[in-house]
Amino acid sequence: MDALRIPMPAAAEETLDPADWTEVQALSHQVIDDAIDYLRDVRERPVWREMPTGVKATFDASLPHSATPLAEVYRQVAQNVMPYPMGNIHPRFWSWYMGSSNFTGALADFLAAVQGSNLGGGNHAAARLDSQVVNWCKEMMGFPASASGTLASGGSMANLIALTVARNVKAGVDVREDGIAALDKPLRFYGSDQLHSCHRKAMEALGLGNRALRRVATTADLRIDLAALKQAIAKDRAAGLRPACVIGTAGTVNTGAIDDLEALASLAAEEDLWFHVDGCIGALIAIAPENAYRVAGIEHADSVALDPHKWLHAPFEVGCALVRDAKAHHQAFAVTPEYLQATPRGLASADWLYEYGLQTTRGFRALKVWMALKEHGIEKFGRLIDQNIAQARYLSGLIEAYPELELVAPTSINIVCYRYRAEGLEDETLKALNVEIMLRLQEEGIAALSDTTVHGEHCLRVAINNHRTRREDLDLLVAETLRLGEELAGATAMAKGVAHEEATRDVRNQ
Ligand SMILES: *Cc1c(COP(=O)(O)O)cnc(C)c1O
Repeated sequence: MDALRIPMPAAAEETLDPADWTEVQALSHQVIDDAIDYLRDVRERPVWREMPTGVKATFDASLPHSATPLAEVYRQVAQNVMPYPMGNIHPRFWSWYMGSSNFTGALADFLAAVQGSNLGGGNHAAARLDSQVVNWCKEMMGFPASASGTLASGGSMANLIALTVARNVKAGVDVREDGIAALDKPLRFYGSDQLHSCHRKAMEALGLGNRALRRVATTADLRIDLAALKQAIAKDRAAGLRPACVIGTAGTVNTGAIDDLEALASLAAEEDLWFHVDGCIGALIAIAPENAYRVAGIEHADSVALDPHKWLHAPFEVGCALVRDAKAHHQAFAVTPEYLQATPRGLASADWLYEYGLQTTRGFRALKVWMALKEHGIEKFGRLIDQNIAQARYLSGLIEAYPELELVAPTSINIVCYRYRAEGLEDETLKALNVEIMLRLQEEGIAALSDTTVHGEHCLRVAINNHRTRREDLDLLVAETLRLGEELAGATAMAKGVAHEEATRDVRNQ
């Protein structure tokens, strides 16, 4: 026995800890200083820039076999990675739909990694804090304390988790044990034709298939057509299918339209359907004093997916699924193997958080939400949401004031769909012109927009989910759209003119 206590020579064992902590401390201070400069000066840099070929080539370097000093590794990151971001922390980034992060959240991610706890569960502070953030999300949505929830990587995962519970509850058979092959009738889920693409992936992953997801037509304001929804449900029932779930969208990714959630809640209750709300964009409007009325009814949902890494600006990744019926939620995912049996005391004497989703090991993503909420308070986040919605209204007003610009969809919340228009251009030419405006805005580092098609009309899309955006940024966007539009439309007209002249000359020469 004593032999076991004889210390081994130190050199026999390796560790990832630094040999010299003092050196790492100095470098870490430098990293923090650089990070603060980086964020403070973000407005001065272009939104986006293409990587030089030399930089791209560094990412083809093969697996490192030997050591490189940390200072050199950091130098490479500072040189090749940090200057070429996606750009979503920039005040003029309005592409797709993202949050713009925040420094407190970054500090939290650092501390979470330093503590390194596994949020699969257990009796420790991080797990308690994780549950607290879920409780805060319930409170924000007006869900009862008895509801359950889980933090996931993002909205797509949160939707998948909620739709899994919906499927299992409405299947009428034990899907977990017997699989979907045991279903006596095929299930049908319903959402609008503006539904986010993650629902298709969820339906496929759940084994129900893309066709089980009915895309119901939307009205002129891009909200689900309730009459068409009722008809679709009735038709499916008559055909011997089993309508199971209706997905309401609180803020569509195309235009920000919010389905009539009160009406969907009543309809789901009448039809005995699970009512899920995809609130990845708009659920958090519930905390915004001026606009909360837009998501009234969300509190009646059976489940909600929301995305703190969007309108709470938490650094990626963090989404949240809430389920009213905690038991149904737990029953959809609970599997406790012997090695994870709870004990009366100690580390394993608490609930396992991994029993509410698909991951086993879970990161401490709650901390970045928790720290920023503590620092600013929920009311400020509510005001920031109202601010983005007011900015979208402001931008829409500017667009309406110029005859060269037009709104392509009604602005509901913080997404503005518009295009440059020029007399006499065909649809395809107009589309090409607007795409070119979008690309030049990116390449010149001015602003990042995306484009989309709304009810068949191509347009540029500005999603203002950004706590750094100011009205002057939107003034600049309009001015630059007009400048580029004029230049490009002029060039197009000239090209057409030349083509026309050449054509007539050819005709004359014949
Ligand atoms: C962003 C979004 C999602 C997906 O969320 P991720 O966090 O990107 O996974 C789902 N639905 C809607 C409406 C969204 O805007």
